[in-house]
Amino acid sequence: MSPDAGWASPEARRVRGEVFATFAREGRPPSVAELEVMAELDRDRVLAALAELDDAHALVLTSAGDGIRMAHPFSAWPMGFVVRGGDRLWWGGCAWDSFGIVAALGERLSILTICPHCGRELSYGAGPQDPPDADRVVVRVPRPAAEWWDDVVATCTAIRSFCSTAHLECWLADTGEPPGARVELERLWQLALPWYGDRLDPDWRPRSLEQRQEMLERAGLRGPFWQLGG
Ligand SMILES: [Zn+2]
Ligand SMILES: [Zn+2]
Repeated sequence: MSPDAGWASPEARRVRGEVFATFAREGRPPSVAELEVMAELDRDRVLAALAELDDAHALVLTSAGDGIRMAHPFSAWPMGFVVRGGDRLWWGGCAWDSFGIVAALGERLSILTICPHCGRELSYGAGPQDPPDADRVVVRVPRPAAEWWDDVVATCTAIRSFCSTAHLECWLADTGEPPGARVELERLWQLALPWYGDRLDPDWRPRSLEQRQEMLERAGLRGPFWQLGG
C-alpha cells in the first residue's frame, strides 16, 4: 500500500476509480447496481463507499443519496456546459470543470455553452497544451472560495461563461446578483490543468488545503475571495 493510500478505505478507492473511468468513457456515472458488479461489492458496501467519498468531497451524491450527482469535473446531469470530443459527450459541471474534463482526459475538446445575459451560443475549443480559442469571454465565479463546498452543486451551477465583460455587467445589473469574481477564460483553463489533470489516476488522493491554495495562487487567483475554507 502506498503511503498516501489511507485517505479512504480500499473499497471507496476502488469505487472511485470505477466512477471516474465510467464517466470518462461514457459521459455518465455508473449506477449503484453497476458499481456492485464493477467493484465486486454488495449494495451496502457500495453505498458505504459512496458515502465515504461524498464526505471526502471526492464526489457528490444526489440529494436522495442514492446515486452520483457530480464527480468533479464530471456531472451526471446537464449543467449549462456541453463538452464534446468527436461523437463523445460529457456534461461539464461549470466553466472551470469543462476545462477540467480537457485536463482529465488530456485531449483537445470543444465546449459549448450559452451566455446567461444574451442567450448567444458560445463555443470554444481547448486542449491540454492549447489555451481556449475564445476572445473576450469572461467567467463569473459567484461566491468566495471558502463557501464553494457549502453547496457545491449550486456553486458550479453559477460558474458561467459570458460573451464579454459588458454582458456580465448587464446581467449583474438586471439580476441584482452579487458580482463574485470575474476570471479570464484562459486563467481558468490554466487553473483546471493541474487541479483536474490527475482525476482519472486510480491512485488519486485529495490534495491538502495548502496544495489547493498554491494552485489558485499560481493561476494568479489571490486575496480574500480566493481563500479556501477547511
Ligand atoms: Zn452575451
Ligand atoms: Zn464546477
